[in-house]
Amino acid sequence: MLIEKARSMLQKYPLCDSCLGRQFGGLGRGVTNIERGFALKLVMAMGAHMELKRGEVAAEETLRVLAVNGGHAPAVNLVGQVTKRECYICGGIMERIGDYAVEVADALKGYDYKNFLVGVKVSGELAEREDAVKSEFGIEFGESMKMEASREIGKLVSKATGKAVEFSKPDVVVTVEIPGPKVEVSPMPLFIFGRYKKLARGIPQSKWDCTHCRGKGCEVCHGTGKIYPISVEEIVCGPVLRAAGGKETKFHGAGREDVDATMVGNGRPFVVEIRKAKVREFDLKALEDEINEGGNGMVEVTGLKVSDRKTVRRLKEGAKVAEKVYRALVELDHDISEEEGGALGKSFNGCVINQLTPNRVLHRRADRLRLKKVYEMSVKMIDPRHLELVVRCQGGLYVKELISGDGGRTTPSVSERLGCGARCTELDVIAVNEGV
Ligand SMILES: [Zn+2]
Ligand SMILES: [Zn+2]
Repeated sequence: MLIEKARSMLQKYPLCDSCLGRQFGGLGRGVTNIERGFALKLVMAMGAHMELKRGEVAAEETLRVLAVNGGHAPAVNLVGQVTKRECYICGGIMERIGDYAVEVADALKGYDYKNFLVGVKVSGELAEREDAVKSEFGIEFGESMKMEASREIGKLVSKATGKAVEFSKPDVVVTVEIPGPKVEVSPMPLFIFGRYKKLARGIPQSKWDCTHCRGKGCEVCHGTGKIYPISVEEIVCGPVLRAAGGKETKFHGAGREDVDATMVGNGRPFVVEIRKAKVREFDLKALEDEINEGGNGMVEVTGLKVSDRKTVRRLKEGAKVAEKVYRALVELDHDISEEEGGALGKSFNGCVINQLTPNRVLHRRADRLRLKKVYEMSVKMIDPRHLELVVRCQGGLYVKELISGDGGRTTPSVSERLGCGARCTELDVIAVNEGV
């Protein structure tokens, strides 16, 4: 049955050892498709040779098919030189698979990686031809050219580079287009975790494109394309990108503070994602020093370590529930007494705040109601018109509006409780306690 099927295929189509063997690729373990194809052809050639020796002249036709359509050397040796036909399915590509491996190994030069994975894209024309042959002959236990080419190129590249093929978490994926040849190297993104402190006001967490020119550079932004000259993101990502030799970075913060608020205490967790990194292992302490030097006392990072995408997700989700501690300076419209100040703090302990999206961010955020808890508020009187608050609250509470009331959009508020106008004049994040 097996031989009969292989014979009828070869009678109709010229097939190389790979392309014939691949139609039976699910049968037998630990052999290549080339070996399968060669073995099938050899059994046919031996059978035909036996018949020929017994005087069955018709067997010569089988040997001729094997020589012409199969390019099978043992048959060629028996029938003499013939003109071999090119493989109907691959057109000779599978015999040149080593050339693809050389291209891949070349493309990988200059990249830092421990393991890799080769993925093959087979052109529509090739894949269609293979599918048509498969269905014409009712192939049940075959394999695809894509599978075979990926595996065989992978094996050859591994031999040439000494690096392992890795299926689940490769450092780098190489995509090979067949026939192409076109090779594209895609290193997996690198992730670096750390915590940042922002010790100066007026620095946004991420780069803000100029709203007039959308980053192109105009008179309003003095050609910089930015609203603020520097950001935490730029201070951190510049050195990271240089160290990793990457193409671009993405800064993921566990929430963000206002531009005019500082971020002190234990610092805010972040992860930098580096795309197309050429270097995957570098001195994180040296990187930390370089970032801090560039931060110029305004931005400081600590605890850099290698991270992963899962951490980014946890960071984003965690930011919503993380407990935050703020220090706020408040200016009042009226004088209040020591007693009123003390009572104010107590009245907010364990209090749930109803907060509609603040007016100041309404242009970029959806208007919705959030319920956020103030766990604890302590009040220190600086003078009858000025207070220093320390607020420990649920992540996501807008503290400036907790103070001003935002025209009634946040309730209760400091302003509402005191019955007079109240403004936050200075805000610092003094702790981000994730995982609370
Ligand atoms: Zn072929
Ligand atoms: Zn501009």
